[in-house]
Amino acid sequence: MTPFRLVLAAVLMLTVPAYGADRTIYLTFDDGPLSGTSNILDVLEAEQVPATMFMVGMHAQASAASKALVQRAKQLPLATLGNHSFSHANNHYQHYYADTEGVVADMLRANEVLGLKPVVHARLPGRDVFRLPSMSKNDTSLGLAQEGQEDPDYEFVAASGFYLYGWDHEWVHKDSGEPVQSVDHLVSEIDHLFGYGRFVKPGRLILLMHDEMFQDGFDGKTKLTNLITALKLRGYAFGAIRSYDE
Ligand SMILES: [Zn+2]
Repeated sequence: MTPFRLVLAAVLMLTVPAYGADRTIYLTFDDGPLSGTSNILDVLEAEQVPATMFMVGMHAQASAASKALVQRAKQLPLATLGNHSFSHANNHYQHYYADTEGVVADMLRANEVLGLKPVVHARLPGRDVFRLPSMSKNDTSLGLAQEGQEDPDYEFVAASGFYLYGWDHEWVHKDSGEPVQSVDHLVSEIDHLFGYGRFVKPGRLILLMHDEMFQDGFDGKTKLTNLITALKLRGYAFGAIRSYDE
C-alpha cells in the first residue's frame, strides 16, 4: 500500500468504525400506550430487534384500544413490558417524590394494571435513576439536596421488587411529540458517544424515546425503521433489558 492509501484506510476506519457486539444499544420507549405505540411494535417485529416499553398504568386503562396495545406488547417476545408508574406523577415530580409511600403505592398500582409480577423492569417518571443488583446511580440533573431527599424513594421502590433504569441518551421531542434530531443526526450522536464511551455501563447505551414520537403524523414508522437500519449497518447490537445488568 502507498502511504496515501494507508492514511486513507486509517481515516476510513476512524469514520466508519466496525462495531462489534460489545457495543450494544438498548431501545426504550416511555409513556405508552399512546398513539405511536402500535407503529413501534410493528417496527420491532419487522426489524426483529428487542426493546423495552415502559408503560404508564393510567394510559393503559384509558380505552379498549390501550388495553389491546398492552396485551400486544406482552405477547411480542421481542418487547419487554416495563413499569413507568400509574400516574406519571401527574407531571408534578417534586410533589410526587416528597411522599415515599405514595411513590411505592403508585408503582405497585401500575403493576396491577399492567399485569406485571416482580422482579419488574421499571423507570421512574421524570427521573434518570438506576437501582440494579450490581449498581445504583442517582439523577445527576437534580441538585444534591433534592437528590438526597429523594434517595429513600428510590431505595424503597427498588426494595419493593423493581429494577430501575435511567438512560444514557435521549432522542428528544418537542412539546407536540415531534422528534427533534433527524435520524442522521441522532446516529452521529450515538457514534460520538460510543467514541467517548461515557456510559453508565461500558459499551452499553440505553436510548430514551417516547411512544408519542412515532405516531403517523410524524412519519414515526419510517423514522424508527431508518434509525434501526442505520444502527444495524454500523454493526451495533441491540439488547434486551434483562441482559443489561449481566
Ligand atoms: Zn415518562
